[in-house]
Amino acid sequence: MTEIGFIGLGNMGGPMVRNLVEAGHGVTAYDLAPERLAAAAADGARAAASVAEAAAAGEAVITMLPAGAEVREVFIGEGGALHAARPEALLIDCSTIDLETARAVAKAAAESGREMLDAPVSGGTAGAEAGTLTFMVGGTEAAFARARPILENMGRTIIHAGAVGAGQAVKMCNQLMLAVSMIGVGEAFTLARKVGLDPQVMYDVCSTATSRSWALTEYCPEPGILEAAPSSRGYPAGFTAAMMLKDLRLARAAAEAAGADTALGAQAAALYERYCEAGEGASDFSGIIRMIKGEV
Ligand code: NAD
Repeated sequence: MTEIGFIGLGNMGGPMVRNLVEAGHGVTAYDLAPERLAAAAADGARAAASVAEAAAAGEAVITMLPAGAEVREVFIGEGGALHAARPEALLIDCSTIDLETARAVAKAAAESGREMLDAPVSGGTAGAEAGTLTFMVGGTEAAFARARPILENMGRTIIHAGAVGAGQAVKMCNQLMLAVSMIGVGEAFTLARKVGLDPQVMYDVCSTATSRSWALTEYCPEPGILEAAPSSRGYPAGFTAAMMLKDLRLARAAAEAAGADTALGAQAAALYERYCEAGEGASDFSGIIRMIKGEV
């Protein structure tokens, strides 16, 4: 059993905390949003009144925040976790953020004598609920070995990707592939309808054919095919379109800096930008099919 400070109790952090509590860890949780904090307390976490209070309580401090700016603020801002955490605390950031921030915060942590890992996840809110997330982890072998037993309570596949930043590097490449495949599935179902095909027939064929993908078989954007998918419930997030746009921008910035040709990634970013500008940023990212169909 480990004492854990957990900061960021949103769509992902909330269920991750629930799994840690169920596994027998003591969790002291904090979120800016009082309703998120109350939900975590109802799940058995102790509610902290500040980032510092949550950070001070943990042998490990885990963050699940929207983006780099929040991670920077929570760790190195005034009253941040680096000022309050125990000297030996292991710091694990599970948010999806830019490489530069991940490396800068890990450097600040190292200067304070603490080890830090970037450990972004894949698997969506369903994976967070079920404790079946994939963790891709950047940092030292020693820090990874310390984190693994904790991460195993929230995920099924825990992979050491390399040095600090390597977790974020894998994650942004994953997001590029996911966005392109989600748009591809959306375009195919739109075309299928226009030429008179039954979407269920499309699904039955393609889910066993060469076009099979997670976007199709686990998260189909066409409504009425997968009961549990956001598409069958009016596209509540899940994973917001705004978050996907953030991730595509991270991939784009990295591709530009590294001189990688990611034409489809750039096109996917442009389409998600248009979808968010249409006022859909807070809806699920699979809802982009509605823009492709001309519904938004
Ligand atoms: P979310 O917006 O639902 O949750 C983020 C939480 O952080 C919110 O509750 C917010 O109040 C809190 N927060 C923001 N700033 C804070 C601060 N300074 N102090 C304390 N709390 C603060 O987002 P989410 O969907 O849970 O995603 C979190 C991260 O996980 C993102 O980086 C996202 O890209 C990544 N991710 C999400 C999914 C998904 O399916 N939702 C999947 C994989 C990865």
